[in-house]
Amino acid sequence: MSVVGIVPAGGSGERLGADRPKAFVVCAGRPLIDWSLEVLDAICDRVVVAAPPGWLREGWVEGGPSRSASVRNAVAAAPEARTLVVHDAARPLVTRELVEACVGALMGVAGAIAATPVTDTVKEAYPDATVLRTLDRSRLWAVQTPQVFRADSLRRALDVDEAALAGATDDASLVEAVGGSVRLVEAPPGNLKVTTVEDLARAEAALC
Ligand code: C5P
Repeated sequence: MSVVGIVPAGGSGERLGADRPKAFVVCAGRPLIDWSLEVLDAICDRVVVAAPPGWLREGWVEGGPSRSASVRNAVAAAPEARTLVVHDAARPLVTRELVEACVGALMGVAGAIAATPVTDTVKEAYPDATVLRTLDRSRLWAVQTPQVFRADSLRRALDVDEAALAGATDDASLVEAVGGSVRLVEAPPGNLKVTTVEDLARAEAALC
């Protein structure tokens, strides 16, 4: 059974304000993406990265106009995969244990994804920031990567037009949209996503 890692790293990371794409910003002495690659390389048969033009390494593919388009490009380069482990380059603190827990949770479902129960109360609001309603926190989870899928389920889910890809904020939502069942795997605290300069400093402190 071939397990292939898929790393979307094709974003520009404008909110970080760096001189290079976010995945290639140096964090604790190496490019941000290399922290995730070290973990995935230890678990997957191989890893395909979708990167911006000018940042490609051997075996990588070019990213697309959206995150999901980048995932689709990388998945297309892994026809042998039976299991796909999708993980954002922007989450350098991922652990081998978390990836293995997601792979292990794939029994009987199309996908198994890292997530944490929501601890803040969450409100749905109108565009003018007045509250529409309060959601039932006991049923809410904040979703992360890794997200692990049966390859045929993810391939089917990604077979949609560019607009649908651009509208998806994670891979599991595309799998759900074609009827795939997805299981949540509770992630340990600390699997943070680097978006801002403050996030980068926090990741650096944790990795040093
Ligand atoms: O922008 P955001 O941080 O949500 O991106 C999540 C991940 O998706 C990052 O690793 C980023 O490089 C990747 N991405 C991509 N192709 C895009 C946009 C984002 O691979 N067009």
